[in-house]
Amino acid sequence: MGKPASEFIANHVKVLPKSGIRDFFAIASTMKDAISLGIGEPDFITPWHIREAAIFALEKGKTSYTDNLGMKSLRREISKYVEDNFGVSYNPDNEILVSVGGSEAMDVALRAIISPGDKIMHHSPCFVSYSPSIALCHGVPIEVPTSVESKFSLDINEVKKAWQPGVKAFIINFPTNPTGATISKKDLEALAKFAEEKDFLIISDEIYAELTYEGGHTSIASIKGMKDRVIFIHGFSKAFAMTGFRMGYACGPKEIIDAMMKAHQYAIMCASIISQEAALEALKSGRRDTDFMREKYRQRRDLIVGKFNEFGMDCLMPKGTFYAFPSVKKFNMTSMEAAKAILQEAKVAMVPGSAFGKCGEGFLRASFATSYDNILKAMARLEKILPKLQK
Ligand code: PMP
Repeated sequence: MGKPASEFIANHVKVLPKSGIRDFFAIASTMKDAISLGIGEPDFITPWHIREAAIFALEKGKTSYTDNLGMKSLRREISKYVEDNFGVSYNPDNEILVSVGGSEAMDVALRAIISPGDKIMHHSPCFVSYSPSIALCHGVPIEVPTSVESKFSLDINEVKKAWQPGVKAFIINFPTNPTGATISKKDLEALAKFAEEKDFLIISDEIYAELTYEGGHTSIASIKGMKDRVIFIHGFSKAFAMTGFRMGYACGPKEIIDAMMKAHQYAIMCASIISQEAALEALKSGRRDTDFMREKYRQRRDLIVGKFNEFGMDCLMPKGTFYAFPSVKKFNMTSMEAAKAILQEAKVAMVPGSAFGKCGEGFLRASFATSYDNILKAMARLEKILPKLQK
């Protein structure tokens, strides 16, 4: 016998932790009648006309590969959508890549730009994949802390403090998973100025842009002079409730899109043609669905945030996403201990903030991508057990 299988694993992969969300939900899934506020995806089924477009594609025998960059018709529609909604114009011929979810767009963006040892900044707390994805490309992740004091938005002074020589890019995600934070145009302009001064790229994950409730959404790609410095990442999962279709895209300077295309071409070939046909329909006729879902999320947000604050679990009103981020600091427990206690005592599952980086400690992520009734039920259970936690 040779060495054990584990010995074949690359060192940088061996040391990667598995997602804290998965660990936690493995516990939750063994409990009977637990209510999950842990879900990071819409509870809506993909609108019928979009599903129908996928069915129709199959009926017509559309079962082939597409252009590596994605169907031309879809890239044209993406270009139109991004121009109309984000105010940036991208050439469908060479500045847009259709990917397997926003996730793959982020992965190939990182693989296209990172040489071993390159430093990539991201804010914290943030989506669980950024830091491991950087590490998988042999890059070095650098955290830019955000805090409840600045509503989890970016403080340019913190960005300047975290920056080091050798930083190649900064991943930003507004509205933010897990905090629901947004960022003002003024703050984006300050960031843009600093990115120009220090000459680094911005990778902007704007997957929750359509789920912005207050203050509107500005893309950093639309800030004057920034288009050539930004990789804009978006997708269909959240705005159109299409997680299972695995549809996303990246827009950026043609040289970078071309480099990303190499990684995409060799690993993936192209996104599924059936999903691309569905995505085309979503962009053409899905606006009303997005508006409907956003309104539902807004009602649920107002309910859940109202309840948390009523219970003394201080919670900012998230301006975007479908996540609330209440504090558990008053319980004198870590966020993992609080999440476990709430799961055990109330059978309500929320994600410990620490799963999103050290700046998430002291908070829980509660998803309101679940029905109004479920939220009411979960909050009633939580209220009952709070005296125990507050001891
Ligand atoms: N970015 C963020 C911030 C997310 O929360 C998610 C999904 N939870 C993604 C990207 C990935 O989405 P998808 O691959 O389904 O497009």
